Amino acid sequence: MANAEKLNPQLNSFLSIEHEHALRQALAVDGRSEMPLAGMAIAVKDNICTEGMRTSCGSHILHNYRAQYNATAIERLNNAGAVMVGKTNMDEFAMGSSNESSAFGLVRNPWDVSRVPGGSSGGSAVAVASGVVRASLGSETGGSVRQPAALCGIVGLKPTYGRISRYGLVAFASSLDNIGIFGTTASDVADVLGVIAGHDPKDSTSADVPVPDYNFSLGADVSGKTIGVPRALFGEGLDADVRHSVEASIENFRSLGAKIVDVELPHAKYGIAVYYIIATAEASSNLARYDGARYGFRADNAPGLREMYFRTREAGFGAEVKRRIMLGTYVLSSGYYDAYYSKAQKVRNLVKQDYERSFANCDAILTPTSPSTAFKIGERSDDPLAMYLSDIYTVSANLAGVPAISVPCGLSENGLPIGLQLVGNFWSEDVLLNLASAYETAFPLGVDPAVYVG
Ligand code: GLN
Repeated sequence: MANAEKLNPQLNSFLSIEHEHALRQALAVDGRSEMPLAGMAIAVKDNICTEGMRTSCGSHILHNYRAQYNATAIERLNNAGAVMVGKTNMDEFAMGSSNESSAFGLVRNPWDVSRVPGGSSGGSAVAVASGVVRASLGSETGGSVRQPAALCGIVGLKPTYGRISRYGLVAFASSLDNIGIFGTTASDVADVLGVIAGHDPKDSTSADVPVPDYNFSLGADVSGKTIGVPRALFGEGLDADVRHSVEASIENFRSLGAKIVDVELPHAKYGIAVYYIIATAEASSNLARYDGARYGFRADNAPGLREMYFRTREAGFGAEVKRRIMLGTYVLSSGYYDAYYSKAQKVRNLVKQDYERSFANCDAILTPTSPSTAFKIGERSDDPLAMYLSDIYTVSANLAGVPAISVPCGLSENGLPIGLQLVGNFWSEDVLLNLASAYETAFPLGVDPAVYVG
């Protein structure tokens, strides 16, 4: 708590720090060691509903919105004894890869405060990387947990679509959205996943698939595992430092006894194009509800209802959100629907089939998480395309619905963290956590970013 207060003026990772709530929770679980997360400090992205607390989505349009109920993930964390320290900063409505598009100011990377932490769950990543909490919740539509995890030197998991209930996660692109988890280690992530995963009758897309004991897979031998490497994706646009480190990690896995095989994901190159059609289409529909009548901000003194809608949305949304609503409305409009939206759905299916074919021959697929290390604040903020390419390695797992994890695998020449990504078959979070924990135990980064700040 004190740490959150002390670091926030510099890092801006929290939008609200919930003193009284945290104190009440901490007192209630004192001595209750039978609870699986008793006393574990956690932080929660501000697009996950927490009853009675502000849930702003990093947007002016919800700046004063207080959630009426808890997300299922929050209920489960509460019942397990976790202590929520606060709500974290994010790109507005989870649209972004740098956390610079929050309506409440950017977030700084604790490894180098002149750099971005990644996004859109930048605040949740920094809350863990700066040592304030051991684990946090973020959300993933196209990489918003894995990419900031890589840029901040921590572990980040996007589960299988349907593994964690989305009830209470504010919708961006419903067929791609997931709640994801950050932790200092794979074991922290496993602890939280074990509590929040599993079927929820309140979310019709949550799956009724048994949840294994994730801690069981930690530390287990990986010598029986096969890791697929799509070499064709290690080409253009990948920073030399990142390539070097991720290639070394392949050899490191080999030295742990894993078998390395080649795989091909021929449709992965269409991932960004497909993602930005489907995600914006769904966003344009989901964000129609912010009209000034139902939630949050309403523009004053409008002469009529339509004008009130216009003025509320004009003043309430930031530039990136407006760009996406327009793009999404365009690709869904009659005349363009077949050319863009329905074509994108077909290619999405091909991306999924690439994975299904590959997982016949391997347990996980290894790639970089992000093509670069943390970039400078401002470097890509005027160039949406450069920003969108930050997600080139991550979006296809969301399109396919498969789970994926980012694990720290080294440092660049200038001392910034690099992450490797492991993508798994449906429901194989246990396999990913097994590989991640074996890797981080054998090849730890050896530097704690918390030393740089405060
Ligand atoms: N950076 C991607 C985007 O801007 C992914 C966002 C996310 O996963 N929420 O859409």
